[in-house]
Amino acid sequence: MPSETLQSSRSEVALPLHGGCACGGVRYTLRSAPIALFACHCTLCQRQSGSAFGQSLRVRRADLDVQGEIVTRTRVTERGTGSESVFCPGCGGRIYNMRPDTDFCHLRGGTLDDTSWLRPAAHIWTQHAQPWFTPPADTLVETGQPASLDAIVQHWQATKAPRFR
Ligand SMILES: [Zn+2]
Ligand SMILES: [Zn+2]
Repeated sequence: MPSETLQSSRSEVALPLHGGCACGGVRYTLRSAPIALFACHCTLCQRQSGSAFGQSLRVRRADLDVQGEIVTRTRVTERGTGSESVFCPGCGGRIYNMRPDTDFCHLRGGTLDDTSWLRPAAHIWTQHAQPWFTPPADTLVETGQPASLDAIVQHWQATKAPRFR
């Protein structure tokens, strides 16, 4: 597909973005454009979502305002780094997770009020993907954890991100 066609078919999305948990006890506002969106097929994402994969929207934590009571749970990953998951204590819904030593967090894509523009740039941990899953054309595929997210960030912004205004 010529890149001009791709560009013109991209939707416009107004900032700030809004979202929250299922019960409404936690609401958030994201004041800057997200950085990337990818789908993770690891067994933990399958377990936590109760579904085939998780959708991670990478955003700047400093630009995310969270309202309402939250619960934070820390887990040590296989690589030995801490990972914090933030939940609503009312409904148990997971809002985002982050490594405390970074400036970014990963919002659960499905917690956005408007999910219509979510187009993952990559599918990672596909070695654990459900057997019926076929990655869509023009997405990056990693069988495990990518060493860096740089290529995913670049691909999302070049081909999958809407125009934020
Ligand atoms: Zn809730
Ligand atoms: Zn995962």
